[in-house]
Amino acid sequence: MTTSDIRPILEIRDLGKDFGDFNVLRDISLDVMPSQVVVVIGPSGSGKSTLLRCCNCLEVPQRGSIRICDKDLVVDGKMLPDRELNALRMQVGMVFQGFNLFPHLSVLENVSIGPRKLRGMSAKASDELALSLLDKVGLKERASAYPAQLSGGQKQRVAIARALAMEPRVMLFDEPTSALDPELVGEVLQVMKALAAEGMTMIVVTHEMGFAREVADEVLVMDGTIIEHGKPEDVFSNPKQERTRTFLKCIL
Ligand code: ADP
Ligand code: MG
Repeated sequence: MTTSDIRPILEIRDLGKDFGDFNVLRDISLDVMPSQVVVVIGPSGSGKSTLLRCCNCLEVPQRGSIRICDKDLVVDGKMLPDRELNALRMQVGMVFQGFNLFPHLSVLENVSIGPRKLRGMSAKASDELALSLLDKVGLKERASAYPAQLSGGQKQRVAIARALAMEPRVMLFDEPTSALDPELVGEVLQVMKALAAEGMTMIVVTHEMGFAREVADEVLVMDGTIIEHGKPEDVFSNPKQERTRTFLKCIL
């Protein structure tokens, strides 16, 4: 296999999304290659969450195309039929700012329910998978706890384990540490760094610039469209756009 045979995990072409008259996303094109880590930054309201949500079919774009692992998810603003859609969505893991764990399920059940219900795994196999993922995020000992008994950092690590339980090909993180107390941010970033080092393909919306510098292969700056795109050192030290400079001054 030569380098040119390697296909993107995620291909976005000319994506456009409106909410009513409001044009939130325009002309977004992006390839994310296997094992790449792309960090997305941009002002509040610039469409970062909407972009991630389109990649996971939580929003339907009106224009453009999205391909995941060489399969069409959206073509010219039309989504796949439901059955195929659900299979493809499993390839895309998502972690939100607000954890969204099931409060009435234990930590173990939060992680094992997806593989059992959606991937048809046996209770034994899904529990084993869940325990190994909890071990990976450093929470095996808390398997029988309930979400309310965990800190925010622990909840977010469970949410990462839960997303990984679907064995996704790409992981989307939408400001995963911004709801956390500062002293809990590090433990979540550590888990994300380890995932990146294992070769997980990731798109991460975050304003943690240390993480971006250390882990990102590319940084995208959004403002309704991609206004800047490059290696972290280039985007941070030598932004091309005045808008990027102004934004960076606010967050650095
Ligand atoms: P970001 O994540 O960069 O802060 P969002 O993608 O959440 O931005 O939102 C982009 C814009 O789209 C914002 O102005 C927001 O108010 C608007 N928006 C987001 N979701 C909806 C929705 N479901 N209906 C209407 N407007 C929305
Ligand atoms: Mg957002």
